[in-house]
Amino acid sequence: MAQILIVEDEERIASFVAKGLRAEGHRPTVVGDGPGGLDEALSGRYDLLVLDIGLPGMDGFEVLDQLRSQGSRMPVVVLTARDSVTDTVAALDNGADDYMAKPFRFAELMARIRLRLRTAEAPDARAHEEVLRVGGVELDRRTRRVSVGGTQLDLSAREFALAEIFMLNPGQVLTREQLLDHVWGYDFDPGSNVVDVYVGYLRRKVGADTIATVRGVGYRFRPA
Ligand code: CA
Repeated sequence: MAQILIVEDEERIASFVAKGLRAEGHRPTVVGDGPGGLDEALSGRYDLLVLDIGLPGMDGFEVLDQLRSQGSRMPVVVLTARDSVTDTVAALDNGADDYMAKPFRFAELMARIRLRLRTAEAPDARAHEEVLRVGGVELDRRTRRVSVGGTQLDLSAREFALAEIFMLNPGQVLTREQLLDHVWGYDFDPGSNVVDVYVGYLRRKVGADTIATVRGVGYRFRPA
């Protein structure tokens, strides 16, 4: 069972896809516009995104572009009109994505979704990578060094651990509890503001815009 986000403004298509996914045991959520779809996709709650191109507010190409530039690696299956397939293929230079030309048969869409979910479920290579790179930030787990745009940063052990969990989950909202758990383990006072303090330290070093505050929830790493 997967959490699947459908960003599609044509209600008939959205409900057809949602119904089919539910029948296959998945949990679909539908959003009908580009900006809302992007926000939802960045929440980190979904395993896969089914994305229409022609959308109000922001088109599917822009949504995909912003999603990738904020570091999200979630698999995306793009829905496109048959006469724009050439444009679509050209836009999907990122090999992680796939497309379906409209009109499509549900069985075809499901085959693509299954394939994408399987690829995404493969053992998470990222968790074992020695050098993590997101945007201009590079973190080397062997030397425990972090650089931004090639400039080495001087990080404390806590700051390094914090940078590491952010870089393992780019574009996703991490709660204070998740950050506490990864960086401080059980050795902390849950009532303290230690996470906020250390996020502040890290922000000063990696750049203020790199870590966004998500009010009432936590933080999201999104380097330029
Ligand atoms: Ca549309």
